[in-house]
Amino acid sequence: MLRPRPASRIPLPLLHLVTILVALLALVTGELHAAPYLFPATPDGEPGQVRDERAVAPFLAAWKAAGLQRARMLAAPATANQQAYDVHYYDLDLTPNPATAVLTGTVRMKASVVSGPLTTVELDFYANLTVDAVTSGGVAATSSRSGNVLTVNLDKDYATGELLDVVVAYHGSPGVSGYFGFNTTPPNNRTLIWSLSEPFGARSWWPCKDAPEDKADSVDIRVTVPTGMITASNGTRVEATDNGTVAVTRWRERYPIATYLVSLASYPYTVTTDHYRYSPTDSMPIQFFNFPESVAGAAAVQAKVKDMIAAYADVFGEYPFIAEKYGHAQFLFGGGMEHQTCTGLGVFIEYVVAHELAHQWWGDLVTCRDFHHIWVNEGFATYCEALWAEAVSGAAAYHEDLGFNKYFGPGTIYVPDLSDENRIFDSNLSYDKVSWVLHMLRRVLGDPVFFAALRQFYVQYGYSTATTEDFRDVCEAVSGRNLHAFFQQWIYGEYYPHYVSSWTSAAAADGYDVTLRLDQVQSWQLFNMPLDVTVTTAAGEQAFVIADSLAMQTFTLHVDAAPTAVAVDRDDWVLKILESPVVDPPLDRHVLLVNGVDWASYGTEITSAYTDHAFSGGYAFDFWDNFATPPGGYPAVLPAPLGHGAVPPEVMGRYRVVIWVGNDYNGDLASWQSSPVLSYLRAGGNVLLMSRYGDRFLGDLLRDYLGVNLAAGTTLYDCVATRPGLGAIARLGTQDYCAVFDTVRTRTDTQLLYKVVSNYAPNRGIGFIRQPVEGGAHRPDGGRFIFLSGRPYRWNHADLAANVESMLLNYFGEYAAPVAVDGPPAPPARLELALARPNPFDASTALRFSLPRAGAVRVEVLDPQGRRVRRLLSGPLDAGPHDVTWNGRDEQGNRVAMGIYWVRIETGAEAATRKVVRMR
Ligand SMILES: [Zn+2]
Repeated sequence: MLRPRPASRIPLPLLHLVTILVALLALVTGELHAAPYLFPATPDGEPGQVRDERAVAPFLAAWKAAGLQRARMLAAPATANQQAYDVHYYDLDLTPNPATAVLTGTVRMKASVVSGPLTTVELDFYANLTVDAVTSGGVAATSSRSGNVLTVNLDKDYATGELLDVVVAYHGSPGVSGYFGFNTTPPNNRTLIWSLSEPFGARSWWPCKDAPEDKADSVDIRVTVPTGMITASNGTRVEATDNGTVAVTRWRERYPIATYLVSLASYPYTVTTDHYRYSPTDSMPIQFFNFPESVAGAAAVQAKVKDMIAAYADVFGEYPFIAEKYGHAQFLFGGGMEHQTCTGLGVFIEYVVAHELAHQWWGDLVTCRDFHHIWVNEGFATYCEALWAEAVSGAAAYHEDLGFNKYFGPGTIYVPDLSDENRIFDSNLSYDKVSWVLHMLRRVLGDPVFFAALRQFYVQYGYSTATTEDFRDVCEAVSGRNLHAFFQQWIYGEYYPHYVSSWTSAAAADGYDVTLRLDQVQSWQLFNMPLDVTVTTAAGEQAFVIADSLAMQTFTLHVDAAPTAVAVDRDDWVLKILESPVVDPPLDRHVLLVNGVDWASYGTEITSAYTDHAFSGGYAFDFWDNFATPPGGYPAVLPAPLGHGAVPPEVMGRYRVVIWVGNDYNGDLASWQSSPVLSYLRAGGNVLLMSRYGDRFLGDLLRDYLGVNLAAGTTLYDCVATRPGLGAIARLGTQDYCAVFDTVRTRTDTQLLYKVVSNYAPNRGIGFIRQPVEGGAHRPDGGRFIFLSGRPYRWNHADLAANVESMLLNYFGEYAAPVAVDGPPAPPARLELALARPNPFDASTALRFSLPRAGAVRVEVLDPQGRRVRRLLSGPLDAGPHDVTWNGRDEQGNRVAMGIYWVRIETGAEAATRKVVRMR
């Protein structure tokens, strides 16, 4: 099952509602097929449009989670009695009456006893349905109910190997369970009857042994509905009549099928057909059951289905139900459901269609044995989206598709706890990260072995069920390699490797030796992974594969000519963070402001913040953009960006201060993670990060650096300053999805700057600074890191600007350079000298002065007796504003004593003096 990816962080319940509304709206407008698929704006304030139709996992996962939420009340493992028999066949004869929303049915089950003798048979059967009659072996039998289990008293004792033949006649209202429904659809008030049983909903509309590990060998489904309705279901249609009163359809599934894949959909469908030709002389029908108003819009995508089948058959093995059909039955859910041979589909999005089709192999042919191993269904289908992209558009499209699926958070792919439905269908873990596991496995094994392993998985576990270990064993058998570590670290372990790479080279015999150092700096598990290394030399590129497994490891790579660049995993085959350290940073420029808010999505909400200088106050800055140039160009106040995407180490290392405006929407988090923030801090750079989702921006290592502990929270109602020089910051809008922290810090050189006092007890910290006592490697008063939680663009712009100015001045010791608004400011009429900031000061203080005309200038620090302590500046300067900083040291570099000092400036005949006080 699958759904398109909207704003990736919409909470699941909202997403359900939104999607249902959209589906209904689409029906009203007849535009269910409209592409791109639109979501209305959510309470989150996120933009409504799906950014890319390939990014569908969160959307699909939410639907399944919703299903499982309903199912939890029903779920129960197969009983001991059920484990004593093996189902061969179900015959469903159903009459759903849309006028009364009552389903009347007769279901026959044939099964063999595997552990006799049996005197009773237990069937899963939702308590809301009423049993009318039961037979066993063709004679009337009695039965009893307990909860959602129906116990049939057999007509005799059945020994091991004997065949049971049980029939249950019943009626009732299945709709209350949420797995089977009667809907009236606008615009024509037509009736839709539908089912969607995954994972445990089959029992809510027909009695069965509702456990995926016991697939029936075949199923017949006969459905009687009012005239004019057309019924779609599994397998082959063997009967279809309409006598003007009722329409009767019989479908016959002759391949093994799990109960949750048995389905029906009845509607006055328009049926269109196509064919998949699997040999020069043979073809299989493809049948699309669409709402009439959707036919035209769906046509383009549905025309691709035969090519999709061919593409997957080529890679995995023939379409598993080749003697029957494939098809779609349109329903109202906003995604799809991989009903065997007959996908239920609510949106005609190419990558949803591809995902659901891929489930015919992975999910329907091979089914996860239980939901601990749901990744065998969903992760495979998600990976298949990338394979379809590759089949259509080649390797670049494959990599681009996977690029949408990177997940860097916690949690194992193996689902440890089945009581949490959102955890089972977690789009990050069960869908997206798995696609990367298969992607990595492909690189580890190489294409021929990888695809051979998938084909063997098909052969060995087709029409059956499988676990993680079953798949691992197949891969090991096919490859002849031990893959325990690979599956252990990626399926049962959490997170990803965080590499820091650096290299040197030296001339060696016949060329050069490159010494590549790789550190795994994460605090969680170490990873054992092969990595591609590409060394660029004057003579071309040379490729290597290294086997990295240690916290610190060096590799010597011999190349033929002088190396100019070394790239690790350039083609992105490993889910990782790779940091190139900031090396010998000059830190000689002022402020770099990095934008991480998507222009197209946030519009004036973000542009107005820049126009108001909310993130920079009076500081001039250079500019970097995580995103591409906005269609309408940049706000006039922004200088042209130096670059886009992640900030490279050589750029970051130039600046003394980096102000980062984060958001985690549409890819900026990846830019943050790919920029050498930690390395820059350690080298002596100062960073001010302002963002929501602080839990994601402050990964394990940065949280430790900053010295904070996460606490539970999401919405901020206020922002109260806790230190002098800072002020309260008002909100402009909803500050949701924001991290909060313990006010108690884990480091003694970390200070609390801001807290929330509304709605949190105890109060929580939302702003912190660490001023490491040891400073940074290249700057004794550097390495300072401020984090301010909250969407930066939803803080009052003027409040934020004033606080940013204060943070940079008082905590980073950074003096504001003049901002040129309309050309350079006119020189003052006479010499001006501003007050020192901060004042009093400990580490350093700064002053701005402005010259009426160019000329020689001298700035000195004097003690109260008028003796010169330090000359700060002496030489010619241009007219206009200038800054000067005093680090509290004398000419010999010693810290001056605490007390009063004077800063005196002289130029021409003019002079000015300001008092400064050094104290701790
Ligand atoms: Zn799926």
